Amino acid sequence: MPSAPPPARPTADDLRFFRQALPAWFDAVARDLPWRRTDDPYRIWISEIMLQQTRVDQAVPYYERFLAAFPTVHALADAELDDVLRRWEGLGYYARARHLHRAARTIVERFGGRVPDTYDAIRTLPGIGPYTAAAVLSLAYGRSHAVLDGNVARVLARVFTVADDVKATATRRRLQALADALIDPERPGRFNEAMMELGATVCTPTASRCPACPLRPVCGALAEGRPEAYPVTKKKAPVPHHDIAVGVLFNEAGEVLIQRRPEDAMLGGLWEFPGGKREPDEPLRETCRRELHEELGIEVSVGERLCRIDHAYSHFKITLHAFRCALRAGTPTSRTGQPLRWVAVEALGDYAFPRANRRLIEHLHSHPLQPSLFG
Ligand code: SF4
Repeated sequence: MPSAPPPARPTADDLRFFRQALPAWFDAVARDLPWRRTDDPYRIWISEIMLQQTRVDQAVPYYERFLAAFPTVHALADAELDDVLRRWEGLGYYARARHLHRAARTIVERFGGRVPDTYDAIRTLPGIGPYTAAAVLSLAYGRSHAVLDGNVARVLARVFTVADDVKATATRRRLQALADALIDPERPGRFNEAMMELGATVCTPTASRCPACPLRPVCGALAEGRPEAYPVTKKKAPVPHHDIAVGVLFNEAGEVLIQRRPEDAMLGGLWEFPGGKREPDEPLRETCRRELHEELGIEVSVGERLCRIDHAYSHFKITLHAFRCALRAGTPTSRTGQPLRWVAVEALGDYAFPRANRRLIEHLHSHPLQPSLFG
């Protein structure tokens, strides 16, 4: 159904409800979260990075453990990347951890150990886009920058009945302009938090709880009687699926071979079992044999399948098939120069792995292989 474009400027009524009723509601219902008990820009920055793709309840224990390990920006800058990745393991989207680590070093080297307090400066740090910059600056320094994440976009699309694809750049710009016009310059951090909280707990994607919402009187979608019609999104393409075959290759000492992923790749810097993607119609054992030959320059015989693990990433799904392999010829050497390591199964916990590989390791722990089967 066509709808009028959102007003260029919010009305006086809109401003009243967004700047008074909404923050008052937030004060009454705000969840007690560890990053809300601090005004330390470093801690706020860490929480904002964690919350980018992670649910609040999942992020809390990671946040506390991460800050126990790296209580200051100096501690994070001094840490080894492997250590940072290990403490991030399970949270996913590992580029966030690599960026945090690099940004901490930049903060120490270029900003005297203080998280920058201006938009232009903070945006020079790796991993800090417009959303994170606005969040950190408003929460830590009281700067008037409005955040626009998925929750805020949904609230605005509903209140102002924005009927265009919410992911389109032009729509995002309109929504950002609205957020910029609505933010309370006196208390921007509280306004941003209230907007995000409303989207997370009341104005949810399905079954929004309109009777509990402080924006009811100005909400266009509610007036139309169809909150769930907004935000409008284009139909998604089907999620692709890949079969991945990996080899569990032991040496005579009973150690398994793992390799480190390139830092600029997806899951960069994490360790994994060697293997790769199945070609169309290729038998899985042949995929495993071919990949180990291409990646490591070795010939292996591929034995039984140890397990099969399904895992979903944001844009695709995989099924990981793990095969026990025996070395027939050659010495493993990475064709791309990535580090390789032979590691005892019990010591694999010392390395950071993507989640599907971690489940394979759990399988190896619960189904130990006999030494006689190693070769
Ligand atoms: S009234 Fe309902 S649809 Fe409108 S902002 Fe509130 S929760 Fe969302």
